[in-house]
Amino acid sequence: MTLCYACYFAACWVDPGTINEKTYAKAVHRFPYDGVLFTKKNKCTTCKFEKPARSKHCSMCNVCFEKFDHHCIWINGCVGLHNYRYFLAFIFTHFLITFYGVIVGGLIFAGLIEEKKLVGAKFRNNATGETIEADWMFIINYMMYHYHAFSFVVMLCMVCSIMLFIFFVYHMYLVKGGLTTNEKVKLSQMQHYLDKVLSFLQEWLRRKKEFETDESKDEFKPKKEAIEYYGVKAEMNTKQIEDKIKSVKKDIEKTKNLPYTGTSFWGNLYQVMFPNAPFP
Ligand SMILES: [Zn+2]
Ligand SMILES: [Zn+2]
Repeated sequence: MTLCYACYFAACWVDPGTINEKTYAKAVHRFPYDGVLFTKKNKCTTCKFEKPARSKHCSMCNVCFEKFDHHCIWINGCVGLHNYRYFLAFIFTHFLITFYGVIVGGLIFAGLIEEKKLVGAKFRNNATGETIEADWMFIINYMMYHYHAFSFVVMLCMVCSIMLFIFFVYHMYLVKGGLTTNEKVKLSQMQHYLDKVLSFLQEWLRRKKEFETDESKDEFKPKKEAIEYYGVKAEMNTKQIEDKIKSVKKDIEKTKNLPYTGTSFWGNLYQVMFPNAPFP
C-alpha cells in the first residue's frame, strides 16, 4: 500500500521534463532527429523554440515536455522523460495490490462458503415449497446478496487488475520497441500514410506506362492527400513519379530504423530507469 502511494505521488510530482530556457540546451541534444517523426526547424508556436526530438507540446499543461508519452488523467499531468519510470511503477504496484485484493477476496469467500457449508446445501423456496440444491451459480448469487459491498470491491479489483495488467504489458511492449505512446501512434499513422502514397504512386506509374501512347485515355489522377503532403503534382511525368517513389521508399525505411529506439529490451528499460544516462 505504501509503495502504491509512493509511486503515485512520485509520478504526480516528479517533473516529466518541462522544456524552458534552463533545460532547453540539454533537451535539444538529448535525442537525434529522425527526419520523419521529428524534424529540425519544427517550431512550437506557443513556446517559441525549435522542438527537440521526441518532445511534444501538451495543450493541457501548456508546455513542451522531453520524450513526451501522454497526458494522463490519473496523475492529472503529463508522463514524460523523467516520470515515465514512476508511472510504470504506479501501474505495476496497482496491478499487484488489486490482484492481491482478488486473491484475498476469493479466499475470504471460500472461507465463508465452507463455514456456511454452502456446497451441496439444500434451500427451500418459501413461496413454492420446492427444495433446491445449491450449485455454483446459486452460491455466487447468495454471496452477492448477503455480502454485496464486499462482492463489489472484489469485482472492482478483478476488473482493475486485468486492465492494469494489460496496460502494463502494453507499456513493456512500447519499452521493447523503444517508443513512447505518442511516437507509437504517430508512427503507425505515418506508416499507414506512406504505404498508401506508395501504392498510389506505383499504380499511377504502371498506368502511365500503359497509356504512354495515348495520354487522353488516362483518367487516373493523384489523390488529394498525396498532393497535399508529398508534393505530388497532377502533371508529373514518369521520371518524376519514379523519383517520388524512391523518396517514399526511403522514408518508409527511415520509419523502420528510428535512431533513438535502442537495441534490446533491457537496454531500453535501462534508458527508462535512468533517463539521464548518456544515450548510446
Ligand atoms: Zn511548447
Ligand atoms: Zn499534459
